Amino acid sequence: MPNNSSAPLKSLNSFGVDVHARRVIAAHTVTDLLMFAQQAVENIEPLLVLGGGSNVLFLENYTGNILLNRITGIIVKENNDAWHLHVGAGEEWHHLVHMCLEKRMPGLENLALIPGSVGSAPIQNIGAYGVDLQKFCEYVEVLQLATGERRWLSSVECQFGYRDSIFKHDLREGHVIVAVGLRLPKAWKPVLNYGDLRSLNACKVTPWQIYHAVCKMRRTTLPDLALHGNAGSFFKNPIIHESTAKPLLNRYPDIPHYPQLGGGVKLAAGCLIDTCGLKGYRQGGAIVHHKQALVLVNANNATGEDIIALARHIHHRVAERFSVWLEPEVRIIGANGEVDGIRAMI
Ligand SMILES: Cc1cc2nc3c(=O)[nH]c(=O)nc-3n(C[C@H](O)[C@H](O)[C@H](O)COP(=O)(O)OP(=O)(O)OC[C@H]3O[C@@H](n4cnc5c(N)ncnc54)[C@H](O)[C@@H]3O)c2cc1C
Repeated sequence: MPNNSSAPLKSLNSFGVDVHARRVIAAHTVTDLLMFAQQAVENIEPLLVLGGGSNVLFLENYTGNILLNRITGIIVKENNDAWHLHVGAGEEWHHLVHMCLEKRMPGLENLALIPGSVGSAPIQNIGAYGVDLQKFCEYVEVLQLATGERRWLSSVECQFGYRDSIFKHDLREGHVIVAVGLRLPKAWKPVLNYGDLRSLNACKVTPWQIYHAVCKMRRTTLPDLALHGNAGSFFKNPIIHESTAKPLLNRYPDIPHYPQLGGGVKLAAGCLIDTCGLKGYRQGGAIVHHKQALVLVNANNATGEDIIALARHIHHRVAERFSVWLEPEVRIIGANGEVDGIRAMI
């Protein structure tokens, strides 16, 4: 380990990879963010903002500073048809979901137990059990580090897509999300299209019942983070052209697939990986989870290199068999910053 990387990151990334950064600093205000960013510029050191570290894979020690966004605070306003929440980026996402239900403001229950902070939620437009953040996001407040300018981006300006937004593209660098605005309509409609939720009665179900069903499904299908480091789904579900999907699905009719509104067909990546017989496949200390093939697990002191090597193996095997190229959902971090996830698969 180089001398200039002395701050441990093991407890700050959900994979539990044992790497270090130069420094770890917690920002509790916008002034903190600007001050630490300015220092990094003056010292010519890289800077990486983290929330809960549940969607990153560190390949090696990070040469720069980690800035933990810990800006908290939840302001609720109400009008006739909705609750409007202004939530600090450093609030914990699951805590927000729980608090909203406790205060009888339903809507977010399908998104219970997603790890990480509120400020990271718009970046990949978090989603689960038929609901994406986009459905409730009214605006995102963004700080431009170089100028100190703060902007409110409307939901449309956020360019939300499947695990995608402007924050992965045009606003990926030099911008920090400081708050998220949510609108929870008072006319609550349950979303019961996925998994065990299908068996609930839409006329009688309560938001808490959905919340508990979602928590139960997640606890039974996903590895316990406290025991086995992981970052949830490692790959995105691929969306392929209809003309490619047709022959593929003729050959493999059991692959779950979902026609998309904007065209294309989304395939269940976990099923593609499972069909290649890769559940339980191991590379060093990293393993494909035995229940959910989309989840790569730090089974035994895995290094970032173990995990990326496992991901590459999966990527190649799925490509060979289905001619479908999986793209990482997890953000890959090298010594000086983020590296291109698609290139990391080559
Ligand atoms: C067990 C498990 C289950 C999961 N299930 C789901 C799921 O069901 N659905 C889903 O969508 N995701 C899921 N995830 C992925 C993850 O929880 C989400 O992507 C979450 O939003 C990441 O939040 P975080 O604060 O941990 O982000 P981090 O990992 O801290 O950061 C992720 C990226 O965002 C950047 N970033 C973080 N905060 C900011 C900010 N304030 N401003 C600008 N950039 C920032 C970071 O630099 C990094 O590139 C799961 C992860 C785990 C470990």
